[in-house]
Amino acid sequence: MKCAACHNEMVKKGGEIDLRINGKLYLVRNVFYEECQACGERVLSPEVSKGLFEKIKKEDFVEEIIKIPVLEGTYG
Ligand SMILES: [Zn+2]
Repeated sequence: MKCAACHNEMVKKGGEIDLRINGKLYLVRNVFYEECQACGERVLSPEVSKGLFEKIKKEDFVEEIIKIPVLEGTYG
């Protein structure tokens, strides 16, 4: 599979991925995805995304409190 952003070859990987759906951030563990070695773009297969959307719809997830680095951007 080729990267949609930069057309480099993507590599199959497994692990954690974060998704932002309708403004909400989701962390997905133990998932297979493809990652672009050049730009870091990550994509899920349509089957995997479909499965995840189903889980979100059924609220089949746990809510955990995790610490994430938050950066302050500068305007201008
Ligand atoms: Zn890329």
